[in-house]
Amino acid sequence: MATKLLTSSLLLLLSLTLIISTSSTPSPDICIIGSGIAGSSLAHFLRTYPTNLTFNSIKIFERHDIVGGRTSTINLGGDTFEAGASIIHPKNLHALNFTKLLGLRHNEPSDNDDDDSSFGIWDGDKFLFKTVQMPKWGLGFGLFSKVLGLWNSFRVFLRYGVSVFRMQRFVKVAVDCFGKYYDGFDSRPVFENVEEMLKWAGLYELTSRSLEEELGDAGLSPKLISELVTVITRVNYGQSVSISGLAGAVSLAGSGDGLWSVKGGNWQIAAGLINRSDVILHLQEEIETVSYFGGFYELNSTKGNSYNCEVAVIATPLDESNIRFSPSISIPDRKLQHTHATFVRGLLNPAYFSLNSVWEIPELVGTIEAPNLPFSCISVLKKYSEDDVAYKIFTRTPIEESLLDRIFSLRKETIRINWGAYPHFKAPEVFAPFVLDGFHLYYINAFENAASTIETSAVAAENVARLILSRYPGETSSNLRNSAASVGMALHLDL
Ligand SMILES: Cc1cc2nc3c(=O)[nH]c(=O)nc-3n(C[C@H](O)[C@H](O)[C@H](O)COP(=O)(O)OP(=O)(O)OC[C@H]3O[C@@H](n4cnc5c(N)ncnc54)[C@H](O)[C@@H]3O)c2cc1C
Repeated sequence: MATKLLTSSLLLLLSLTLIISTSSTPSPDICIIGSGIAGSSLAHFLRTYPTNLTFNSIKIFERHDIVGGRTSTINLGGDTFEAGASIIHPKNLHALNFTKLLGLRHNEPSDNDDDDSSFGIWDGDKFLFKTVQMPKWGLGFGLFSKVLGLWNSFRVFLRYGVSVFRMQRFVKVAVDCFGKYYDGFDSRPVFENVEEMLKWAGLYELTSRSLEEELGDAGLSPKLISELVTVITRVNYGQSVSISGLAGAVSLAGSGDGLWSVKGGNWQIAAGLINRSDVILHLQEEIETVSYFGGFYELNSTKGNSYNCEVAVIATPLDESNIRFSPSISIPDRKLQHTHATFVRGLLNPAYFSLNSVWEIPELVGTIEAPNLPFSCISVLKKYSEDDVAYKIFTRTPIEESLLDRIFSLRKETIRINWGAYPHFKAPEVFAPFVLDGFHLYYINAFENAASTIETSAVAAENVARLILSRYPGETSSNLRNSAASVGMALHLDL
């Protein structure tokens, strides 16, 4: 009798538990604004991480007619070139993992005879330094690898001394710290704000001082900082060595060896992640307003449509955005650095560089900070024939036609893009919160003034995915915070 009573009590308890868990298992709708790496990788992480939440839908809104945001390509004279983010570091494990998962192929530096391409530092009047010219032409991959050919590295050493090794050491320490973001969930917390996330990895201090100060303390010579380092920060972020130490370290890392890109365009990472994440994609649909109505957000678009979601995620910088929030939100002021990318098919004019022949002009012309220097860099993308070459020029302001006419002796095609490219980095950096309203309005690009890259967007999106899953009511799978089961979620280099 006692056994029968116990059995029926247990059955009652079990059915009650089932009723409670079925009725209380939430199935939120998630709206993501932005289809770049941040938005697409967030959808991927939400779909693949272990959780007892079932998402009713994941919607991504993109104002343009193509996904990928700042990873995009242009067509110049029938050839496709990266127009925005062009290089990925060999230790960017999310990007590596995504491309492997999606079956995308890599352009390796070796595909482009990168080590043989030439490099020069232009001060507006003359070349301060030029690598020895090699006869081959490359695609303009890693900057530092260009100068580290055997003979050329000796010449770099002659000019800058042991400072070069100190610079490499500075970069390695930062890259190693960044690698902590690939640790498993058991040892890596979910971060509620950017400061906490950076402090945990040992990177926060680097955002509170300028690159120039950090490198000075690391024992780099003023000459190396004002020349080679400046060239690199101008190429990668269009800014001087006054950027924060962390953005600077990331920029320097993006000029090293082993850099790669996706064959056919880096935008395919975003496209592939969206395709395999059961996303409802709304292209050419710009979100104008996000309003909180207690328990859900209403998003209104320029098409006059309304969407309700329990979770809303901003996966784009808000600095130049027109999105209006109700109730209003408050985030620190941050400016975007604009980079004007001009693509030219034609031929450079050697006279502009006081040279006799176009072949004496290095394939990557970097520049120092000088008041009247009108461009940040010019690089060769592809050589078709002796008088037909594809080039990319980065400037801080729109490049004038008259200047292009002086720089080029021949111009068949010119394409211009004005990028709101990355934050104007300024130490000490002040960060917006990941959670904008204390409820379920999230901001992935709060992380972007730490550094702006494909990988940092993915790393921030991964943390926001865990933050959503760990904060959403009804989510009980604590393994997102620290279970042993999550050890397998750690990423390794041998992916
Ligand atoms: C010229 C240039 C060179 C770069 N070089 C490199 C590089 O070599 N390597 C590297 O790793 N990184 C590089 N970067 C940086 C890198 O591109 C970015 O950090 C990264 O792509 C940002 O991705 P994201 O998804 O966070 O933002 P984004 O790619 O900007 O995506 C945001 C998306 O949101 C959309 N959107 C915005 N507002 C709305 C709205 N209201 N409604 C709907 N949609 C909206 C936008 O159209 C966009 O598609 C470069 C950037 C530029 C511009």
